[in-house]
Amino acid sequence: MDTLYERVYGQCPVWAQNILLSLYGYRINRIRYGGSYSAYYEEYVKRLKFTKNQLSELQNKQLQEVIKQAVEFVPYYRNQFEKSGLSASDIYDVSDLKKIPVLDKGPVRENPNQFVNECIKKSNLIKIHTTGTTGTPLNIYCDAGSRQRNFAYYNRFLWQNGIKHKRKRATFGGRIIIPSEQSVPPYWRYSYFQKNMLLSSYHISDATIPIYIDQLIKYKPAFIDTYPSSLYNIAKYANLHGIDLNGITGGITTSAETLYREQRQVIESAFGVPVYDQYGAAEMCVFLGQCKEGSYHIHSDYGVVELLREDGSTADIGEEAEIVCTGFVNRVMPLIRYRIGDRGVLSNRLCKCGSVFPVMDKLLGRVDDVIITPDGRKVGRLSPVLKGFPVKEVQYVQNNRNNVDVLIVKDLQYAESTEILLVTELRKRLGNKITINIEYVPAISRGEGGKLKSVISSVR
Ligand SMILES: [Zn+2]
Repeated sequence: MDTLYERVYGQCPVWAQNILLSLYGYRINRIRYGGSYSAYYEEYVKRLKFTKNQLSELQNKQLQEVIKQAVEFVPYYRNQFEKSGLSASDIYDVSDLKKIPVLDKGPVRENPNQFVNECIKKSNLIKIHTTGTTGTPLNIYCDAGSRQRNFAYYNRFLWQNGIKHKRKRATFGGRIIIPSEQSVPPYWRYSYFQKNMLLSSYHISDATIPIYIDQLIKYKPAFIDTYPSSLYNIAKYANLHGIDLNGITGGITTSAETLYREQRQVIESAFGVPVYDQYGAAEMCVFLGQCKEGSYHIHSDYGVVELLREDGSTADIGEEAEIVCTGFVNRVMPLIRYRIGDRGVLSNRLCKCGSVFPVMDKLLGRVDDVIITPDGRKVGRLSPVLKGFPVKEVQYVQNNRNNVDVLIVKDLQYAESTEILLVTELRKRLGNKITINIEYVPAISRGEGGKLKSVISSVR
């Protein structure tokens, strides 16, 4: 939504907001599901039957196409290839990618236009604004075709897990669909053409959760698409109060934040359906989706995923490394060997589900989701520390190496002794030199895009 639209929307009564949202949804649907969407979707679903060799052949072909267009029509790559004496034909398969340097977010952020294909008419460009890993804004350009390809892949992922994307859904996401000052229900709006009830992630609290639960029971969405933290809080409340949510929805998908094991267990036990997590990026260069076995499969026809060590060399199977992607979906703004900012561990096992898409054994938090200790250690993945603790939410804030503030939203069973145990657990990872300040807060405010950021740090 553009700013003017948002301003008008914010001042309307609820019924008018529903109409505006529906009209906006109509426009979005026309972009996503118009043009060649159906042909893409059919083609992509067929690929699920491909053998490993067929997939690999397809991937190399897609890569050649992307490189050829980039070198010919995208100023950044034309210059880069010219300077290094490379030509498009030097990149024949995935193993040739290492001839091209890795791309940081910096150049994309500073001058996005140099990554845009010159042949695309300006009037056909769609701008997507993303906060990126570090919260620094990034502008991504694409066109209707890119969106259609992207949603054909996404809906294939839903289909794989028995979820029909055309049926009614409920969404907890990052859009501010309910003005923040609104303190009375409804905390949702309805997008008619998208058959989508959008529920606010920003209004969830112990006081409002029963109202959300009532609405979900009444609405019975075919599936719920949510940030893990939003539905987790609702599920936790339902479990604690013995509210049965079994049967109210056919499936749950999560995205945008790391889905922790405990969150999955709590959500699955409350709703009685599996949670399928999905990992992607506004840059449209990577797509991973969970299967029925719980494995994260890399959709290798969406783009190439490489796992690289800090020195740029290829990591071994089973070794934790940085995720670097080359996307096939956004032909308007191709990103080649792009550092997405997350880490993972590649596996070579064949998943029991039968899919030949490669498996990522671990998908780890953001590269910058770390606390830096006074002795310079980078300590990441602090969330397991809180496993089993009566803590609803936590956020680590670090402004210098000697201190870390830990913001905690307590759960009912939180006692004085909890704090001592918690600090002991943190000390095991952070050591004794750092000062740990525990601060209790009623809620943790969401960052831009409505995501709960687990670490906010200005320390480098
Ligand atoms: Zn699988």
